[in-house]
Amino acid sequence: MTLTHPAYGQLRQVTPTAAVLLADNPGQMTLDGTNTWILRAPDASEYVVVDPGPKDKTHSEAIARVTDGMIALTLITHRHHDHTGGIDRLVKLTGTQVRATDREFLRGTDALLADGELIEAAGLRIRVLATPGHTGDSVSFVLDDAVLTGDTILGSGTTVLDSSDGALADYLASLDRLVEVGAGKALLPAHGPDHPDLEPVARYYIEHRRERLDQVRAALRDLGPNAGAMAVVRKVYADVDKRLWPAARSSVQAQLEYLRAAL
Ligand SMILES: [Zn+2]
Repeated sequence: MTLTHPAYGQLRQVTPTAAVLLADNPGQMTLDGTNTWILRAPDASEYVVVDPGPKDKTHSEAIARVTDGMIALTLITHRHHDHTGGIDRLVKLTGTQVRATDREFLRGTDALLADGELIEAAGLRIRVLATPGHTGDSVSFVLDDAVLTGDTILGSGTTVLDSSDGALADYLASLDRLVEVGAGKALLPAHGPDHPDLEPVARYYIEHRRERLDQVRAALRDLGPNAGAMAVVRKVYADVDKRLWPAARSSVQAQLEYLRAAL
């Protein structure tokens, strides 16, 4: 039987070297839940885990089970709890080392992830690509045939920019970087289904941001240049479910900062 997304609690092979274990934490911001990626070259004995997922005993135990506890390294795409909450239980169960761009999430090492760094583990070559924008600490991981994009590009819908340190100029530059590295490589996102080719999805994301920016510019022509984020949301997101407005507000705030910085 071939599994399809979403396959909660079952290891689903997506590429020859990447399989996904979906956490049972669906929600407005997590779509169907968090994808924990389990990587390994076909002949390797150990695994690399990307994003242990939320604080959820069942999910952590499932990761330990499918890897037989043989995790060479765990990597973190960014700080949000639905990606990092499960770190300590996974470390307790398997003793894995954990690397991230934020010191808070390092376990068993002092080595922060560095942009451009090449990691060799589990028979794979994994290139670290800084892709800030969703959060300041967001990174993607580039394999020979796929890119793990964290929350920078999702499998469906579009990404919200974090109101504390998300920035649209950074985000647009990150999408450009992903277009560059993504041609012909599978998109393995932290939420939603995977796609066979990252490049067209990254291009759609850029187009979507440009359209939203045009809409925000138009709204400011009506509302005046100093309009607040919520007033802009009411105009630009009038056709969107009101429950999504708080998240939209955070993205609009980032767009207003971007436009005002350009003045
Ligand atoms: Zn996130």
